[in-house]
Amino acid sequence: MSRIVLEGIKKSFNKKTHVLHGIDLHVEDGSFTILLGPSGCGKSTLLRIIAGLERSDAGRVIIGDEDVTRLEPQERDLAMVFQNYALYPHMNVRKNIEYGLKAKKIPKEERNRRIESVVKLVQLEDQLEKLPAQMSGGQRQRVALARAIVKRPHAFLMDEPLSNLDAKLRTQMRVEIAALHKHLGTTFLYVTHDQVEAMSMGTHIVLLNGGRIMQQGSPREIYTNPQSLFVAQFIGSPPANVLSFGDYSVAIRPEELVFQPSPEKRMTLSGKVIAREHLGGETLYYLQTRYGRVTVKGEHFWDDTSETAEVYFGEADLMFFDREGNRTQKRPDILSAFAHEYSRAI
Ligand code: ADP
Ligand code: MG
Repeated sequence: MSRIVLEGIKKSFNKKTHVLHGIDLHVEDGSFTILLGPSGCGKSTLLRIIAGLERSDAGRVIIGDEDVTRLEPQERDLAMVFQNYALYPHMNVRKNIEYGLKAKKIPKEERNRRIESVVKLVQLEDQLEKLPAQMSGGQRQRVALARAIVKRPHAFLMDEPLSNLDAKLRTQMRVEIAALHKHLGTTFLYVTHDQVEAMSMGTHIVLLNGGRIMQQGSPREIYTNPQSLFVAQFIGSPPANVLSFGDYSVAIRPEELVFQPSPEKRMTLSGKVIAREHLGGETLYYLQTRYGRVTVKGEHFWDDTSETAEVYFGEADLMFFDREGNRTQKRPDILSAFAHEYSRAI
């Protein structure tokens, strides 16, 4: 088990593509830390630098108490799991899992013991003789996990390991990987562009954009207290609504908007219903208001066909951002925008 510390990591490609602008990060020992961000923001590059597969231009990588910046990948005692599984196609499951142990010169008996216990853990007991081509995507990803686990690494690095799986399997594997982390107690550093994965699996989220850390914290902190518009709009499903008022923006989450006023929710906005999406347990309503388009996540009324709607919210539901998109605690004088409608609501 180990913490991972990054100090001032910078990386450019071909001297002109500046990918990482000085990343300082402390991945706590035993945490399930998620590196989250849009495609192209530098997640894989950062993970590859930690693994030793890529050299940084500046900065240090520390694993446990050891500076590994100049060490080769195999000297870092990390296990990496990739999106494309990276299994050896001509080797059966047993050999795929065993390969890394042989490379580490672990004796046969010990190898067998570890393989036996890991295939139970990932439920592949009866698949040992199969070739990767004979298995489903989900099973292959389990082999990749098993191969990582038997090495008993200081930490696991995973780069979008679920993105090749269909939606149902992805949901199932999310739960399995989270359970695996609990069982092993080892540091997981997990890359994804999918905020639902991040929110549901991680104990800690690091949100990256354009090669910089935008915010980090527990899923709850990131969700309830976004420090920038970028974070507010990246996290949440669907993401927060943003209304523009000159120099300020106001964000409000779709699930905070309701169709009935209450003592806590006495401000109101009205709009034209431009679309409804019935999701079964809930419905997404898309409203065109005079301040912009808003999404409402609400109960579903299958038969409701009204063309306009009024939604209600409270001041506590609003998050304010300045011209640069940074969170501000100032209360700009925009609540009055809702005030005359407010008086209609009560
Ligand atoms: P992410 O994993 O967040 O999608 P990457 O780390 O893969 O992002 O890539 C970040 C940026 O670096 C992208 O613009 C990508 O094109 C660029 N990049 C990554 N690897 C290389 C490389 N070997 N040579 C040149 N550019 C690269
Ligand atoms: Mg990537």
